[in-house]
Amino acid sequence: MTLTVVDPSTEQPIAELEQAGVEDADAAVARARAAFPAWRAVVPRDRAALLRRLATLVEENGEELARIESRNVGKPISGARGEVDMVAQVFHFYAGAVDKHHGETIPAAGGVAATFREPLGVVGLIVPWNFPLNIASWKLGPALACGNTVVLKPAELTPLSALRLGELCVEAGIPEGVVNVLVGKGSVVGQRLIEHSDVAKIGFTGSTEVGRLVMEGAAATIKRVTLELGGKSANVVFADADVEKAAASAPYAVFDNAGQDCCARSRILVERSIYDRFLGELVEATRRVRVGDPSLDTTEMGPLISSEHRSKVASFVEDDPAFRGDVPDGPGFWFPCTLVEATNDDRVAQEEVFGPVAAVIPFEDEADAIRIANDTPYGLSGSIWTRDGARALRVARALDTGVISVNANTSVRVQTPFGGFKQSGFGRELGMHALEGYSEVKSVYVSTDG
Ligand code: NDP
Repeated sequence: MTLTVVDPSTEQPIAELEQAGVEDADAAVARARAAFPAWRAVVPRDRAALLRRLATLVEENGEELARIESRNVGKPISGARGEVDMVAQVFHFYAGAVDKHHGETIPAAGGVAATFREPLGVVGLIVPWNFPLNIASWKLGPALACGNTVVLKPAELTPLSALRLGELCVEAGIPEGVVNVLVGKGSVVGQRLIEHSDVAKIGFTGSTEVGRLVMEGAAATIKRVTLELGGKSANVVFADADVEKAAASAPYAVFDNAGQDCCARSRILVERSIYDRFLGELVEATRRVRVGDPSLDTTEMGPLISSEHRSKVASFVEDDPAFRGDVPDGPGFWFPCTLVEATNDDRVAQEEVFGPVAAVIPFEDEADAIRIANDTPYGLSGSIWTRDGARALRVARALDTGVISVNANTSVRVQTPFGGFKQSGFGRELGMHALEGYSEVKSVYVSTDG
């Protein structure tokens, strides 16, 4: 079966690829399994050197990777460059982590007890289409650092950057079979990885619906899973905040990557006393978002990933919204920046839109803000805008969410843990925390009796 890969900004084909089937998935797992004993035995210094070489190759080929990603996902080239830079930093970080991920010695009667961190074996990495290379690196870096071998399945809509990354792994000197890129349908090869008895763990990012299937499928072989799923994050703006700054940055917290971001702050909660002023400033800031050709340095928002996805996003906007932006004429899966005044019970405030649609919701006071922010099945990210430091910490602790920023809208950093509460999933990516998801703790007791 052939797969046609499309540029979402032109709707034109950009590549034709062979799609893998179940037998190819089995062959990829077999290659990874065969490569595992030698890879786990690579001494830390040498494994770190290979990861560092991979990071350097990502830097050296950064512009090419960014162009591939921009064209395949329809994301602005400036954003794609930033993402590729992060990919290099991720591999540098995990190169440095290889020999800092160690065990403990534990007091025990009659001998010595120690823990070791052992690799899991073959891990299956299932990656979505919104940040294909970034999310692949968040899983690949810690998986390789811990000594696992990998089968990486990109989304069928966006396989091109993962294929190039696979080539760079070989060029870096990572032995054949350690990293296997498998292009095929999630329901076929993804499902096979989940079922396969030689796959020890699935690292998954995607929809909550497929996340459930991963958990169900993994139960048969008691596979480890890390799930990074959907979000419906709140951007909470208190009256004592720098309102101008909060309003100016709020559009980028939800329309970045055309809203196709699990961390999108797609519920903007505003204290009622500043609601009208904030909404006015938010509309003006949203009007300034530059939507258009992703290959231009000046573009801030591109199209959605597919026609099907655009129809889903459109279904969330029923009446006249508070604001609807412009989009280019002609081909491309365009959808305008849209602001909707809502209550938290509306569908647009409860479900993940995964498009450039933000729900603006008033709140009365701090307790009301916390109640509304937590009134969602998700708990991935969020922001708090206030000049009151005590309130910032109080609210940050009260929100049921994995990642929070105060007076900022960032969610991911190479060195800090990233992941969700509630139905946004479990397990942590990035930072030293990610290593826990790609290793098992082994306890060894040695008797010192003579
Ligand atoms: P999916 O969850 O369907 O896709 C994510 C990955 O899982 C892809 O690689 C996909 O493969 C794979 N997959 C799909 N079905 C299976 C299966 N049965 N077994 C194993 N792997 C599978 O997300 P969509 O791409 O369909 O997007 C749907 C919605 O999910 C979005 O609108 C958004 O709400 C949410 N989403 C959230 C993301 C996040 O970052 N949290 C990322 C992407 C989507 P393939 O596509 O090749 O079939």
